[in-house]
Amino acid sequence: MKKVIVVANRLPITAVKRSKQVVFQPSVGGLATGLSSVPDLRSVWIGWPGMTSEKLNSNEKEFIEKRLAEDSFRPVFLNQNDLDLYYNGFCNKTIWPLFHHLIQYAVFEQRLWQSYDRVNRIFRDMVLEVADPGDIIWIHDYQLMLLPDLIREQLPNATIGFFLHIPFPSFELFRFLPWKKEIINGILGADLVGFHTYSYVKYFLDSIRRILGLENTYGEIIVNNRLVKVDSFPMGIDYDKFSNAATDRNVKREISRIRKNVGEKKIILSVDRLDYTKGMPGRLEAFEYFLENYPEFKGKVTYIFVAVPSRTKVEDYRFLKRQVDELVGKINGDHGTFEWMPIWYVYSSVSFSTLVALYIIADIALVTPLRDGMNLVAKEYIASNVDFKGTLILSETAGVAEELGEAVIINPANKVEIAGAIYDALSMTDKRQIKRNKDMHQRLQRYNIKKWAMDFTGTLDSVKKMQEDLNTKRFTMDAKNELVASYFASSNRLLLLDYDGTLVHIGESPEKADPDEELLRILTAVTDNEKNEVVILSGRNRETLENWLASVNLKLVAEHGAWIKEKEWEAIEPPMTDWKKEIRPVLEMYVDRTPGSFIEEKDFSLVWHYRNCSPELAQVRVKELKDFLLTLVANLNIGFIDGKKVIEVKDMNINKGKAALKWITKRDWDFVLAIGDDCTDEDMFSVLPDTAYSLKVGLGSSKAKFNVGSVKEVRKLLEALA
Ligand code: UDP
Repeated sequence: MKKVIVVANRLPITAVKRSKQVVFQPSVGGLATGLSSVPDLRSVWIGWPGMTSEKLNSNEKEFIEKRLAEDSFRPVFLNQNDLDLYYNGFCNKTIWPLFHHLIQYAVFEQRLWQSYDRVNRIFRDMVLEVADPGDIIWIHDYQLMLLPDLIREQLPNATIGFFLHIPFPSFELFRFLPWKKEIINGILGADLVGFHTYSYVKYFLDSIRRILGLENTYGEIIVNNRLVKVDSFPMGIDYDKFSNAATDRNVKREISRIRKNVGEKKIILSVDRLDYTKGMPGRLEAFEYFLENYPEFKGKVTYIFVAVPSRTKVEDYRFLKRQVDELVGKINGDHGTFEWMPIWYVYSSVSFSTLVALYIIADIALVTPLRDGMNLVAKEYIASNVDFKGTLILSETAGVAEELGEAVIINPANKVEIAGAIYDALSMTDKRQIKRNKDMHQRLQRYNIKKWAMDFTGTLDSVKKMQEDLNTKRFTMDAKNELVASYFASSNRLLLLDYDGTLVHIGESPEKADPDEELLRILTAVTDNEKNEVVILSGRNRETLENWLASVNLKLVAEHGAWIKEKEWEAIEPPMTDWKKEIRPVLEMYVDRTPGSFIEEKDFSLVWHYRNCSPELAQVRVKELKDFLLTLVANLNIGFIDGKKVIEVKDMNINKGKAALKWITKRDWDFVLAIGDDCTDEDMFSVLPDTAYSLKVGLGSSKAKFNVGSVKEVRKLLEALA
């Protein structure tokens, strides 16, 4: 049976030494629970067991391996040096701050990078030991971004998913990373790449475009002839665990204990790891501002501030601890009385019962990270309150804000706004609280951790199927041999060939796509054979085709079928160009608003070119222009083609299909071959007789019978026919 191999930096169980004995603390991470609930899949976990090799002798290591094997966990042992340079180093001093847009904390050091690379290879070796054909390898998070491609190099057909649990940064920040290309290539070794939010998906795709020059179609990218999908999967929580907790005996006991200590005061709660991404100092200042500006609440609210120790070996975290200690001390000193302490500061982790009791008892959950991949505390707070009471105040910069839009959304840098939100929340009626929370609650119930895990693995399955479909249409050596044999067995042959992207590679400068010597030689050889009729069907204008191809005895179709040349150029339809006077001013406006773009006027079409523009701006403008054109085209009987870095507006009656038909019906061909690469060639493929051979250059769905890898392969085929 196929299994899911989960690879994460840490195992869901941690080995610790107590009185010289190795013991285990089972961790109840959401991920572990979620994956164990995916039906029909057996999981194996690979990760670091929590103790460095120096602290373990060989017997203890063996003991750990045996004990972990009982739960299908496989330990990757790391030494202290790895932990310092890889985990505390590259992961937490380079990637963590940079990806959270806090570049001032980021360090860029070669030796940290080298350690990251080395540890990813250690993980790879363990995966290779465990993986069987057909297994799903699901890699998690920023510690292992090189791993997908490291595995792909060894297992080209493996099924690999990668999920990033932290934000992906905007390109303007990501570009600072000296190893950005390696990181992007590492991740793209996966078949499916998942993020919590669509914003991170957009940032990632943008970086791929800027760094590797690869475009995507709805999140699908072709990487080295392999389809990779990028999408968002907002991680859910173990909903039942939190929603059922209100009736648990231990939780009830905790609620009474806390209530006894706090009395009838309103409770504001925050729970976070002590991390500079969580915006704790700013939040404390906002609370102080609240006390100063809404003094009527003095003595009536208690702020329970739980800070869970984290990364205590990293200096920036120690500094933050001192900062928070001082701020809490100052606020309590300035505002507290013998009867009332404004902030209850707890610097430790808390048990599950205490945590849920706090969620249930809190009137406000104050979740104000500067930047957060998701933030599960916000979700847990809503899920724990089955009466839908309480108010969630949430940063707009937390990933979870894209899902929990009914929360009170604030800017974490704006203490006036946060203080105002606290005031509003404390004055909010139960009815309004319930109205806000109910929808969020139901969404968390539906898209829980189990659904999330199934959604991700299900999508990964479908990506594999899409890859297989594309592969079955691959132009294999057998298919090529059959085509060549049929060609030589026939005597009336029609060859319909697109130009750009089919016979020549379209690089950065399409204006320099004139034919090279090799192409002219091949075309001459094919056209010299009197059994062949060779037609070039292009979107280019007549002059260009004439200039480039005059030396070869070809038939030509220009402007996607508007003009045809057997001997002399003829217009296929009486020209209909009235629409141009309506469309030209629109395109001119887009030229003005999009630096680098320009208009090309063809006889039957107007083309807006945007290949020299900033990709982000172009993306926005393309969408706007398409929306705008959609409202115009119906009335004017025109259409538009969303081509390669162009939007071409044209008369709908003109297309390559019509032009191709003119030749197809000319005589009784006993061999027809059509080759093309983009959407305009689909019109040509759709009018071919069943017996025809058709090839699409590149991957991607098409009406053509086969997908062929590159221009080079097309040229090789034509050479074989010469
Ligand atoms: N949590 C915990 N122990 C505690 C307090 C909180 O395990 O003492 C859990 C909490 O329930 C939540 C997680 O830690 O599931 C924090 O996740 P979140 O996404 O909010 O922040 P992260 O720490 O991952 O940045």
